[in-house]
Amino acid sequence: MRKMSLEEKKEDIGENILEVQQEDRNEKQTSFPFDIPDFKTLLKKQGYALAGHHSAVKTCLWLRHAMNGQGFCYKSKFYGVQSHRCLQMTPTLMCNQRCLFCWRPTEIPVPDLGEWDHPEKIVKESIACQRKLITGFGGSPNAIKERWIESNEPNNVAISLSGEPTLYPYLPELIEEYEKRGFTTFLVTNGTVPEMLAKVSPSQLYMSLDAPDLETYLKVCQPKSAALWEKINESLSLMKQKNSRTVIRTTLVKGQNMFKPEAYAELIKKASPDFVEIKAYMHLGFSRLRLDRSSMPTHAEVLEFSQELAKYLEYEIADESEISRVVLLSKDGKKSPVKKVSGLD
Ligand code: SF4
Repeated sequence: MRKMSLEEKKEDIGENILEVQQEDRNEKQTSFPFDIPDFKTLLKKQGYALAGHHSAVKTCLWLRHAMNGQGFCYKSKFYGVQSHRCLQMTPTLMCNQRCLFCWRPTEIPVPDLGEWDHPEKIVKESIACQRKLITGFGGSPNAIKERWIESNEPNNVAISLSGEPTLYPYLPELIEEYEKRGFTTFLVTNGTVPEMLAKVSPSQLYMSLDAPDLETYLKVCQPKSAALWEKINESLSLMKQKNSRTVIRTTLVKGQNMFKPEAYAELIKKASPDFVEIKAYMHLGFSRLRLDRSSMPTHAEVLEFSQELAKYLEYEIADESEISRVVLLSKDGKKSPVKKVSGLD
């Protein structure tokens, strides 16, 4: 397949962002060196809806597929989540890493607003945003009517959209607030804030582990400080003590971090997670400016790597989703739907 030139990639993404990459990445930068007037406009262009001042909501592709009767996402297959009732959000778009494979424009600093919204406000506004974002399905001839009605009452929140949620200081309260409303809560963290990880109890706690060693971590995740690798190791040990269901998730990028399964296994053993998810990098969003399409492993390659990892880890393959290029490992080769919060619907 012919490689796209950088000029073509620029057009493909629709933003003149390459100038940003050439800029000295100065955190104090407050204006955009291209034709996007402000951060809000950038969010809008990416299809995000702002919930309050610093939280964002975006409907995922699988919500749209589920609504139109075109299938559910792998989280439905693996954990029983109903894609059309899943609210994907983040309480902050800020992040302390700049992963090569991230869909978000990591080159652009997120403005620090200096004050935080109350969790109750975020929950209310995120549900309102979700309802607004799916309004169009109500009149669509392709949408399944019952699903559209159900989707107005989301019952799972995926706190994982973009940015690092553990940087929001009221994350435990935010999770409680969603659970009070009968939501199951899926939290995805990069593991760099073990102090916050110790405090949260979502239904399912995902932690990303995208490197088998420090050298790869610095290259692939481009953290603000090399010291964050130690924090990640601290978080791995903390995971072992959590009551939440735990998952370690690795995004494989060909030629970047898809090696040393034995080293990944040693790190994962510290966390002893209920599940391990191994998934392929997908050539989407702003990651297209950093990585070539050939960085996406095929499903067969993901499966092969997972089998190797399972051997070192003494886990078994529990399931896989070819379309999403993801493989699920568990200790006994079984999977189970996520439990509802006790006493709630
Ligand atoms: S940790 Fe997550 S949000 Fe932050 S840069 Fe990496 S992929 Fe993006």
